Amino acid sequence: MPADIKAKIKEVIQRNYNVKSFRLEIGVALDFKAGQFLSVTLNNDPKLKRYLSISSSPTEGSYLEFTKKLTQSDFSRMLDNLKIQDEVVIQYPFGKFVLDASAPKIAFLSGGIGITPIRSISKYVVDKNLGIDIVLIYSNRSLRDVVFKDDFDAMAKHYPLLKVAHVLSETEVGFKSTVGHINSEVIKNEIPDYQQRKFYLCGPPQMVEAMRKILAEDLNLPVEKIVTENFQGY
Ligand SMILES: Cc1cc2nc3c(=O)[nH]c(=O)nc-3n(C[C@H](O)[C@H](O)[C@H](O)COP(=O)(O)OP(=O)(O)OC[C@H]3O[C@@H](n4cnc5c(N)ncnc54)[C@H](O)[C@@H]3O)c2cc1C
Repeated sequence: MPADIKAKIKEVIQRNYNVKSFRLEIGVALDFKAGQFLSVTLNNDPKLKRYLSISSSPTEGSYLEFTKKLTQSDFSRMLDNLKIQDEVVIQYPFGKFVLDASAPKIAFLSGGIGITPIRSISKYVVDKNLGIDIVLIYSNRSLRDVVFKDDFDAMAKHYPLLKVAHVLSETEVGFKSTVGHINSEVIKNEIPDYQQRKFYLCGPPQMVEAMRKILAEDLNLPVEKIVTENFQGY
């Protein structure tokens, strides 16, 4: 089990109406792979411990960033009240939702807050200019729920091998998106070469399982081409 590390809040960034990123200063060298997660404990209270993906990339310098959808829970409320220089306890790194750099083409399927580790991996690929071809299909209820839109727009501008396709439950005038949900037709349309790609799925467990079934059963992808991360708790 990784050791407890005392971390200080360095910066808080509002990402959308109910999502905030928290940047931590940990006082020791960073040691994680893009896509991994950490635990955050508030007030030294085990009931106030949550697992959260690291949304920053190891290429981004001296801080660790996590990004939380703020609910009505005690944890969310207390987190939202933290000030710069306040202390939290973290443990890290955990998890195997990491890049297989031997795959020249990959695809991400994500919904809502499930974008966090995908933002980390994408930023890593772009900053390192790895030449890996990426398609992200990102599903949300509406445009206001999209997280890291500016970030992905900026990355796609710098790195032409990154394509982002938005799927929204409702029509949004002036915004290019597919209306509905991610299904096999959307995947075939947005990723015609899907058979050549390794897929990374992240989001609430129900969504991840639905995506996995589509890939494995409708599109006949072998299990070794599907990597998943379940956000237990949603
Ligand atoms: C690997 C991993 C990565 C995650 N990354 C992120 C992230 O980047 N951003 C983010 O916002 N969330 C992430 N989550 C989810 C996060 O850990 C919380 O569960 C979620 O944010 C809800 O917490 P809350 O305090 O807001 O609400 P709560 O009220 O605590 O949770 C809502 C409901 O989920 C239940 N619940 C809470 N935790 C768990 C659990 N571990 N297992 C089963 N049920 C649970 C509660 O009983 C409640 O009914 C991740 C989870 C995992 C496992």
